[in-house]
Amino acid sequence: MSAVAVAKAVGDRLAAAEAAGLNATLHWSRAGLEAEAARADAAPVAGALAGMPIALKDNIVTTDAPTTCGSRILEGYVSPYDATVVRRLRAAGAMLVAKANMDEFAMGSSTEHSAFGRVRHPLDKDRVPGGSSGGSAALVAAGVVPAALGSETGGSVRQPASFCGVVGVKPSYGRVSRYGLVAFGSSLDCIAVFGRTVDDAARVLGAMSGYDPLDSTTLDRPPMAVPTPLTDLRGLRIGLPREYFPADLHPGVAAAMERVKAAVNRLGGQLVDVSLPNSAFAVPTYYIVAPAEAAANLARYDGVRYGPRKAGPAGDIRALYQTTRGQGFGAEVQRRILVGTYVLSAGYYDAYYRKAQRVRARIADDFLSAFAGGVDLLLTPTTPTPAFRAGEKTEDPVAMYLADIFVCASSLAGLPALSIPVGRSEGLPIGAQLIAPHFEDERMLAAAAAIERVVAADAEVR
Ligand code: GLN
Repeated sequence: MSAVAVAKAVGDRLAAAEAAGLNATLHWSRAGLEAEAARADAAPVAGALAGMPIALKDNIVTTDAPTTCGSRILEGYVSPYDATVVRRLRAAGAMLVAKANMDEFAMGSSTEHSAFGRVRHPLDKDRVPGGSSGGSAALVAAGVVPAALGSETGGSVRQPASFCGVVGVKPSYGRVSRYGLVAFGSSLDCIAVFGRTVDDAARVLGAMSGYDPLDSTTLDRPPMAVPTPLTDLRGLRIGLPREYFPADLHPGVAAAMERVKAAVNRLGGQLVDVSLPNSAFAVPTYYIVAPAEAAANLARYDGVRYGPRKAGPAGDIRALYQTTRGQGFGAEVQRRILVGTYVLSAGYYDAYYRKAQRVRARIADDFLSAFAGGVDLLLTPTTPTPAFRAGEKTEDPVAMYLADIFVCASSLAGLPALSIPVGRSEGLPIGAQLIAPHFEDERMLAAAAAIERVVAADAEVR
């Protein structure tokens, strides 16, 4: 097929998804699709992703479409440069076909915090697709694109992947350049990938990983190799952290995890009991560290440098800042800025921010000890429940934050982690998570591919 034909088909599916009210996209156009297809067809050498249509979360900057981060404060903003991942994916032949809806500034777990309306779960319009990369997840789950980029600060790709029944892979911190990813929590932020299969996601990651002189947090190591899927798990020790299997786990999630454990056994992997005691503090720690960094990063949206300006009385710069920020940021973003400013303030820095940094180090040490103790990978549920109903947690921020209880700790530790679909409960997808040591992304993907092959993702588990 020509890229032109693929782009035409993707355009039809984007239009159908829009007509069905998914609200998963913020920007795309037929003209944009044609331009991408012409570029892909004209490439002298077919790259690794030749003609592959990929959607981008709307916090990854591109020069040919707006980048709004789901926020009024960046409405209509167009970047003067392309993100490194955009350049690398195009160089590999990919077509970047749409910018996907998201929680405002990637703050949320349901994509209900977008200033441009909530994203619907593709299988049940009354439910959420997860978040904050809910638009990207929904586009892959609905079959609009085979892969999409999201971003992770604390689980924002794995959690929606689990809710939507697709694969979500967060690479090691330092593996993929964040040049051109709008900053939220800089010590946590990663660009991550959704795919329908582990192999698809691995190919996209392989094409965009590697050292980038424009992002000093990328490590100077060779790009990720696309791993050959394992046919069995012999010789691998897979840890089950007991804190991730609480007695009150949703019965469907628990049943799905039993099936995954049985599959690991059948494949010759060895399951071992481990403990990550400080994971219990991951959500409170994350909700100090991430807002602190967000408060600093979001100070740049002042009505002067980016996006629309809401002027106050002439000559009053303070009023300009206040009006622009007061009207431009939604309630959740304002809450994060207030919390972040508070925990960094002189009187509370030691009690909150410094303490959180110490707990973060303990959380990371737990993982290091488990891996040093001979465990190759960790296996956990991705989320405590399947996709919840829209509106269920919007009035209770802490309930929303707890949706990330199994994904936050590995983010604080900077580790690679992924979610694969492993069954359904009452028709709703359930995901299992693998977590690997830093820079062992290939091992994690190869093992996930083996499990993916033997666990029926669409089977009802109870
Ligand atoms: N749900 C978490 C939050 O609201 C994580 C978001 C993310 O990973 N971007 O901050």
